[in-house]
Amino acid sequence: MHIVVCVKMVPDTTQVSIDPVTNTLVREGVPFITNPFDTNAVEEAIRFKDRYGAYVTAVSMGPPAAESVLRKAISIGADEGILLSDRAFGGADTLATSTVLGLAIKRIAEKRPVDIILCGKQTIDGDTAQVGPGIARRMDIPQLTLVDEVLSVNQDQKTIKVRRKLEGYHEIVESQMPCMITVEREINTPRYPTVPGRLDADDIDIQVWSNNVLKLDPNSIGLLGSPTQVRRIFAPEREKGEIMMGEGDQKDNAVEAIFNKLIEKDIVAVK
Ligand SMILES: Cc1cc2nc3c(=O)[nH]c(=O)nc-3n(C[C@H](O)[C@H](O)[C@H](O)COP(=O)(O)OP(=O)(O)OC[C@H]3O[C@@H](n4cnc5c(N)ncnc54)[C@H](O)[C@@H]3O)c2cc1C
Repeated sequence: MHIVVCVKMVPDTTQVSIDPVTNTLVREGVPFITNPFDTNAVEEAIRFKDRYGAYVTAVSMGPPAAESVLRKAISIGADEGILLSDRAFGGADTLATSTVLGLAIKRIAEKRPVDIILCGKQTIDGDTAQVGPGIARRMDIPQLTLVDEVLSVNQDQKTIKVRRKLEGYHEIVESQMPCMITVEREINTPRYPTVPGRLDADDIDIQVWSNNVLKLDPNSIGLLGSPTQVRRIFAPEREKGEIMMGEGDQKDNAVEAIFNKLIEKDIVAVK
């Protein structure tokens, strides 16, 4: 069994602010981390390894520094890391990102057939949740999104049964493999790397694939291959104000008074 797990390096959003003049993210001095949803995807990949002896390949598209998120995946058990890095990949929207990742995974599968591609549900910077399904589309394989539990795998019949978390209910779905799965955070609790794991990960060579390796049409990747571009980023303005409570609105009836104000302002409705 071969699992490919897609990992993106993202700015630690707890440290990010928006420049009030340029309306862009202030990235200087901001630490970069593994996209939190992808830590669950990596953990799930390692669980496939623990249960079925799967081989795990971690893949990331990003600048040279994204090598760190691959080493982190290796430190907890991934077998190899492949970094897709080229200036030509820069400025990619979700379409161009999934084109590069999809083709790279096809290349990986030529050497070792791939059974499952694991992605996080979404990233914490782009937040679109489109790349996983985009990869499945480009590879022409089924997609199982929003998965919060893997129920069973039948390696002989090449099928997998999972639970999907939908609004207010769950759905049990069975699919043929190869397939692409995006995971919810509830699917598992990511393990921490051990010290030997970290040391081993430091010694492993990360392969770097540029477009010289993938040979994609330059018009289908990076900025040139991206029909969507981010024009402006801004924090929504919040209406500020204060509500003065009258004389009668003392502690005893404070809850009722606040509730009445909320109804008055059409924030809550009573049926
Ligand atoms: C603030 C901001 C807003 C943006 N808005 C848009 C927009 O509206 N439309 C648009 O097309 N693009 C947008 N982008 C660009 C977008 O971030 C990139 O296309 C990005 O490479 C992938 O999209 P995502 O981060 O939304 O990933 P998602 O689709 O949310 O990611 C889902 C999963 O796919 C995998 N994955 C995603 N990217 C990579 C990667 N580079 N390497 C490995 N695995 C990966 C991970 O497993 C991840 O958990 C935006 C970027 C930023 C920073």
